[in-house]
This record gives sequence, structure tokens and C-alpha cells, in this order.
Amino acid sequence: MVIVMNHNATDEQIENVVNRLESAGYRAHLSRGIERTIIGAIGDETSLGDAGIELLPGVENVIPIMQPYKLASRVMKEQGTIVTIGDVEIGGETVQVMAGPCAVESKEQLFEIAGRIKETGARIMRGGAYKPRTSPYAFQGLAEKGLQLLAETREKFGLLIVTEVMDPRTLPLVAEYADIIQIGTRNMQNFYLLREVGRYNKPVLLKRGLSATIEEWLMAAEYILNEGNPDVILCERGIRSFETFTRNTLDLSSVPIVKHLSHLPVIVDPSHGIGKFRFVPPMALAAVAAGADGVMLEVHSNPLEALCDGAQSLTPKKFGKTMVRMAAVAQAVGRKL
Ligand code: PEP
Ligand code: MN
Repeated sequence: MVIVMNHNATDEQIENVVNRLESAGYRAHLSRGIERTIIGAIGDETSLGDAGIELLPGVENVIPIMQPYKLASRVMKEQGTIVTIGDVEIGGETVQVMAGPCAVESKEQLFEIAGRIKETGARIMRGGAYKPRTSPYAFQGLAEKGLQLLAETREKFGLLIVTEVMDPRTLPLVAEYADIIQIGTRNMQNFYLLREVGRYNKPVLLKRGLSATIEEWLMAAEYILNEGNPDVILCERGIRSFETFTRNTLDLSSVPIVKHLSHLPVIVDPSHGIGKFRFVPPMALAAVAAGADGVMLEVHSNPLEALCDGAQSLTPKKFGKTMVRMAAVAQAVGRKL
């Protein structure tokens, strides 16, 4: 960090800051200008902290220069992380598509959608068995029964399964059935849950919090990585803004930014980002163009009858068309689909 002293800071105050830095484990580098003195603190900010410097007399401003996350940072690991599940790679050359209904509703529903997804070449199926609904009166998901149906779908169609965990108490169960454990936007800062999934040997899909900054999102990933689980996939799914036309504001700029700051793979969920099916396909294409390692799409055979998020769900036919167009964009940016 860099410490800027007040223009009238005394020698004693400057010395006091230097002493404080050194006792916290930093080396201090003094630069006395005509107007003011600047002190460079040399050391690992992430572990040494700010040493309370801002509170010392004579200090005007403290500017951190290190990112607060370490394990998620590209500075620590230059090579992009590839999460490998069987022969499916997330973060490699192929842009992976995760598709399926918002919620698992029945075996017939899952099998019908899975067949259509499989036809398009997508490898991963999504579907919630535990649903984080705004209203306690809305459909909450089929819970363990839903997980069993997802497992049957995997068996029959050979698709990988991504499904959400909301509560550490059901984590062992979800982890038993899922290939990828999803942490939803509402739980991005449930640090207890993050630590728990960090102790599992299963890839984790970490959705960006409703109002989370990129830094907060990466710090949430840091919690999982810090417990020893290296397989974290980030998912941009829109953030809250003043715009009310769309469900959220899909922040596609986060894709190249996160790829710059972090080695972790990043995927985009335009379905929750926009909330209206009509606008989902163009943003799916834009996500691939922006460099996303994958796209998550809600697909339902009969969106009118869907128990959850029908308005943002693509029919299998629309999904198939979107896949063809995404493949063309992927090729244009040097990737495959
Ligand atoms: C979901 O993907 O099922 C979901 C609930 O999404 P989000 O957490 O992004 O709202
Ligand atoms: Mn949904």
C-alpha cells in the first residue's frame, strides 16, 4: 500500500507510521516531496493487513495496491484453470453449455428436455431441486426426489448435472447427486456454506451475488479455494441496477475483467440476467463473443406451464437455434462449442 501523509505532517508522525509498518512486518520506503511525504509499504498486504495506518495522526490517505484475493488471482496463477469432469472441460477451448429447466418438476419433464438438449451436443444439464424463491408460498422444489430424478437423467442421457445447494445441512445429499454444485446468487456471501463446499471434492459453480462487486465475487471464490477445492467456476447472472425493464442488468463487462484478474473459468447465465426469453439468445451470443467459458440457459418444453421462471425459458426449438448461432460466434473468436 501507499501512505500519503498530510502536507503538514510532522517528522514524529512520519516516524510513527514507519515504526507501525515495520512492527506489522512491512518494510517502509520514504519519499519526501516538496508538498508532502509518501510512504510505500513493502510486504504482502493480503496477509499483513492495513495495520490500522489510516487511524494514525498525520495520515491523509492509504491506497491499497494489492488485490485482497490471492488464490483466485491471476498474479498467483498465470495459467487459466480448466475444470475437468470426465471428458468435459470447463475453461478449455470448448465453450460449455449448461441447459435445462429452472426447477425439476417431474421425470417426464426432465427426460423430454434432456433428450432435446442432448441432440444439440450440449453436455451439461441444469435443474434445481432446492429452489430459492422470493415467496415462501411459491414452488420450493422437489428436494431429494428432484435430485434422484436428476441422477436418473444423467444415467439415461449421459449428461452431467449441475444443481443448487442452499443449505449446509443438505450439502452432503446434493454433493452425492451433483457433478457440479451450484451456489446461487442469494448465497454468494454465505461464508459458512462457501467454506463447506470448499471442503468437498466437487466442482462448484459460484453465481455472482445480486449486488456484488467483482471484488466481492472473487473474495467469495477465495473462501472456497482457501479450503482446498480448486475447481471453482464463476457465473455472471446479472446484478441489480435502476433498470426495471429487465429482471437484472447482465454485466457482460465482468467476463473480460474477471478473466484478466483471475485464472478461474467464467460462464454467463443470460436467462436470470434478463428474465425475458426474447432477449436471452442475443445475450448468449454476446457472452460467447465476450470470452465466456460457458453459457447457462433455462430451457422448458412448455414455458407457459413451468413451475418456475417460464418467462425466461427458451423452448427446446429456440434453444437448438441458439446453439447453432453460438457455435458460429465461438468459431469467430477462436473457440469451439
Ligand atoms: C438458478 O440458476 O436456478 C437460480 C436460482 O439462479 P440465481 O441464483 O442466479 O438467481
Ligand atoms: Mn430460474
